[in-house]
Amino acid sequence: MLKQIKGLHHVTSLASSASVNNAFFTNVLGLRRVKKTVNFDAPDVYHLYYGDEVGTPGSVMTYFPFQNAARGKRGVGEVGVTSFSIPFGSATAWGERLATFEVENVTADVRFGQNRILFDGPDGDRFALVETDDDRTPWTGNGIGADMGIRGFQGADMRLADGGATAELLKFMGYEKTDHADNVTRFTVSGGNAANSIDVETLPDAPRATSSAGSVHHIAFAVENRARQLEVREALLDTGYQVTPVIDRDYFHAIYFRTPGGVLFEVATNEPGFDRDEDTAHLGEALMLPSRHEHLRATLERQLEQLP
Ligand code: ZN
Repeated sequence: MLKQIKGLHHVTSLASSASVNNAFFTNVLGLRRVKKTVNFDAPDVYHLYYGDEVGTPGSVMTYFPFQNAARGKRGVGEVGVTSFSIPFGSATAWGERLATFEVENVTADVRFGQNRILFDGPDGDRFALVETDDDRTPWTGNGIGADMGIRGFQGADMRLADGGATAELLKFMGYEKTDHADNVTRFTVSGGNAANSIDVETLPDAPRATSSAGSVHHIAFAVENRARQLEVREALLDTGYQVTPVIDRDYFHAIYFRTPGGVLFEVATNEPGFDRDEDTAHLGEALMLPSRHEHLRATLERQLEQLP
């Protein structure tokens, strides 16, 4: 069993409008945009990162907004719900705030003893705000104080036709089964960051998901550094997973592999972080380009949708 994985690092999803996406995550949910860059593999598309003050691993929601992309279809083989951590007693205030912004499909429930508010993002992405014991510091502003601010991820909910092989993989990655009810099993990693929970929801008769706007593209797990990442890569290869080489994403190093249930996993380093090329006070304001795309700057600044 691996000991290097410390919870989630980031979650990356697809959207249909950069400006709508940006407004939702900053104005409605109150996250900080910590990086405005482009998809390194398709530089005519933004890559927007939202999180806490510095984009601490475990807090970072990222998006590729493909302008006017059709909506994906929810189903199995994907992350169905991305969950953020909120303070105890704030779920009601969040329900009222989401109603004020006319957020769609706002519901409340209790899962494994935790109060949740569930809602749709602008592309039908499904989110939860979960009341959690968590001492991380939220980003505040836009009418959101520390008494209700999002502290980062609580976890992610994978919807699978058959959860068996993915459960084995999560245990191999260092997660333990900590709860089970109906068709949902919770796995938790100890000794990591607070984004430490993965729920596996088994839906044997549901259709397969179609990935497009509103779909989670992949979830990334955090490791401390590149040495730990290489250890994880070797172990996954030894177990028979096809893992990509290490890819430099400027703000972290990444490896990717497809899991048995269909969800794409990444393992990302906590270093060097989002403040490597901008001052903390101005994170996310300027368009930052990887050096190999710097020659495209004038074209990209003209073509990409303007964001506040
Ligand atoms: Zn990623």
